[in-house]
Amino acid sequence: MNKDLRGLGVSAGSAAGPAVRLGTPPKLPDVVPAVADTGAEADRAVAALEAVGDFLRRRSAAATGQAADVLAAEAMMARDPVLATKVRDLARGGRPAAWAVSEALASYRELLTSAGGYLAERAADLDDIADRAVALLLGEPMPGIPAPGHPFVLLATELAPADTATLDPAAVLAIVTERGGLTSHTAILAKTLGIPAVVSCPGIVAVPDGTVVAVDGSAGTVVVEPAPEQVEQAARRRAERAERLAAAHGPGRTRDGHLVKLLANVGGPADVAAAIAAEAEGIGLLRTEFLFLDRHDEPSGEEQRATYAEILGGMGGRKVVVRTLDAGADKPLAFASQEAEPNPALGIRGLRLDGLLPALLDAQLEALAHAAKDTGADVWVMAPMVSTPAEAAAFAARVREHGLPVAGVMIEVPAAALCAARIIEQADFVSIGTNDLSQYTFAADRQAGALAPLLDPWQPALLQLMAMTATAGRAAGKPVSVCGEAASDPLLATVLAGLGVTSLSMAPPALAEVRAALAERTLAECEAAAAAALTATTPAAARAAARAAAES
Ligand code: PEP
Ligand code: MG
Repeated sequence: MNKDLRGLGVSAGSAAGPAVRLGTPPKLPDVVPAVADTGAEADRAVAALEAVGDFLRRRSAAATGQAADVLAAEAMMARDPVLATKVRDLARGGRPAAWAVSEALASYRELLTSAGGYLAERAADLDDIADRAVALLLGEPMPGIPAPGHPFVLLATELAPADTATLDPAAVLAIVTERGGLTSHTAILAKTLGIPAVVSCPGIVAVPDGTVVAVDGSAGTVVVEPAPEQVEQAARRRAERAERLAAAHGPGRTRDGHLVKLLANVGGPADVAAAIAAEAEGIGLLRTEFLFLDRHDEPSGEEQRATYAEILGGMGGRKVVVRTLDAGADKPLAFASQEAEPNPALGIRGLRLDGLLPALLDAQLEALAHAAKDTGADVWVMAPMVSTPAEAAAFAARVREHGLPVAGVMIEVPAAALCAARIIEQADFVSIGTNDLSQYTFAADRQAGALAPLLDPWQPALLQLMAMTATAGRAAGKPVSVCGEAASDPLLATVLAGLGVTSLSMAPPALAEVRAALAERTLAECEAAAAAALTATTPAAARAAARAAAES
């Protein structure tokens, strides 16, 4: 058949192998059985949800890092008391247990889907809970990852976190899903596990089990029934990649020794081990809001101090850049929410919340200052969503008031990049958040799979804004980091080094590939790649120009 399919490449690497589709979820029978004892039926329904919650909690305990957090959050959803009440009401009203569970979760799913963005991408979690509970109630096996007894490429409409988190990278050569965006769990967890993945790939679930497919997780391509030389090419690339990564060690540096610090993006204490294992030179972005996403009330100063100290202490004296709470839009925090806004991404989020809730930032800075003292760590603090030099100045003053010596800001709003020179006068360093900088530059929701071409980090407008920021940093002699997804693209990392970026921060599994890419080029080659990329008028041309210049 040799058919080419296209999707979004979300986790780098190549592989070819036989396809195996995810086990199909249970189907409710067409005939609805009568219920004799509605009270007992309600108990059965709630017990099934509790059993699913326990199962997910056990999987969370067996997983690490983000995978563990994602599963713990799903377990909480399964045991949500409001959900249990709804299920109980439906069962008491005469619906059999499996139907009550399915219908209650379907109504939640609709709410999440209509909320859009980050919340809509959590709909897969609810489907997973429903499928597992219904399977239990119908006496069927829980749906999940197949175990054919040989390495395979996993195909699915969408993967639930419970499935992805326990994937064995030795058995699963690659993942391809029909749905999912850049920030779906499939994308995040596949990257964490180092499994090549393509999401948003229409037509993939129609591919029959056993068909050989070749997957390129960087290009986002899938070849169905590839020619033998395409299979060989994928296997060769896989082996070469493994060899290159195994050879790259130590601090980030170009071939001629120009240092570019390689740092980790971390969401909680559980990620620290992965950062250390990947030889991160520190943390370049601690997303503190991730520590408290499931909290209804503001965590106390003592609790914050202990959590920060755990992370700072775990990094053994390496530098840690802590971002103050970035609440709002795609990262809602119950205790830092404001009235519903028509456009949350353009509303009161990040540092802007300080205007409404100043005590929140002061409490966080105080807890951080204590944790820094407790651990003797090298703590840098930065603010998200800064738009003007005045905001940068006010934030830096607040940080220093709390005795924290290094204050920086994120450059993730185009206005901040355009005024980078004046912003950097007010701060000790800046860090470019390319996820939001792309979203705001292109007026394109960062979670919308359909807008991915606009969110390509090689877009000329984004490259220009990053270049302006790097130039401002160089002129001021102050550090400029990149901590958005762009930093984890190995070729783009060399361009950023060539632009004068001094550190790159990314999910720990991406570090080895970026370390290897930097080590293969001299600073002059990186600079040539940067100059060439800046002349291009399309992302594809920028990539090609950078590659040609870096290799000439
Ligand atoms: C960014 O916007 O690029 C960034 C690093 O922050 P976050 O993804 O947490 O918004
Ligand atoms: Mg951001």
